[in-house]
Amino acid sequence: MYPVPTSLSPSRVEAFLSCPMAFRFASIERLPEPPSPHATKGSLVHRVLELLFMQPALQRDLAAADVAYQQAVAEYRVDPDFTLLDLAPAAADAFFADAWSLVQAYFAMEDPTTVRDIGLELRLEAQVGSLALRGIIDRLELTPEGELIVTDYKTGRAPGQRYEQSRLAGVHFYSFLCQEVLGRRPAAIRLMYLRTGETITATPSAQSVKFLTTRTTAVWKAVEQACQTGDFRPKQGALCPSCAFQPWCPAFGGQPELAAVEAPARFRPLAAA
Ligand code: SF4
Repeated sequence: MYPVPTSLSPSRVEAFLSCPMAFRFASIERLPEPPSPHATKGSLVHRVLELLFMQPALQRDLAAADVAYQQAVAEYRVDPDFTLLDLAPAAADAFFADAWSLVQAYFAMEDPTTVRDIGLELRLEAQVGSLALRGIIDRLELTPEGELIVTDYKTGRAPGQRYEQSRLAGVHFYSFLCQEVLGRRPAAIRLMYLRTGETITATPSAQSVKFLTTRTTAVWKAVEQACQTGDFRPKQGALCPSCAFQPWCPAFGGQPELAAVEAPARFRPLAAA
């Protein structure tokens, strides 16, 4: 028997679908995990773009982005999500240089002086039954026609066709949150893949929002059931090579019941270092 969560975010929904066992370790047992270079770099780039968009629209040029980048780098140099990566000086330089190249790539995709943003890093929450759905919207904007647009920056690669729908499911989540909290469904949701320069645009509809609530409710019921039975099965896949919980995963010969003691002992000393 495990405590049933009372809230879900898009990433948690997808995490449960990707591997219930990893979801148990991370979201039910809340075991610590070491930071990953990919996630930290993504957060850094998001911070740069947030700082850039805090500037008046007409001042959002590459020079302003450089100032934002310098501020974000200063913040991250002392952030445990970066310091615990323990990168050698050359690797740290490459890390920051790559983050800057992603910011430059952003400028090749759109002109930020033309964006009428009305919200940055917006935290929204809405109820579905007794479950709270939570999400953070990178950027909410208003078109000249008065329509809402949600933009989500991605620092990884664009998904293949097979995975596109699951990524868009997360995006429809934001659409649902906008509808519930702001009273309007966005006209479009855009995923900007900075590394490849691709933008995937989805047009939410009443059906897609309904599908989202049905899907999320089904996932939550499955989470509830797994909490009651303790049956969180490992699902091997692309995430396994980078999964911090592999030493305790039964699919790799590990003993999940040892994770509660061993994972904090292995990862928390890093955090205290
Ligand atoms: S190693 Fe793979 S199967 Fe095991 S918990 Fe991690 S993601 Fe799931």
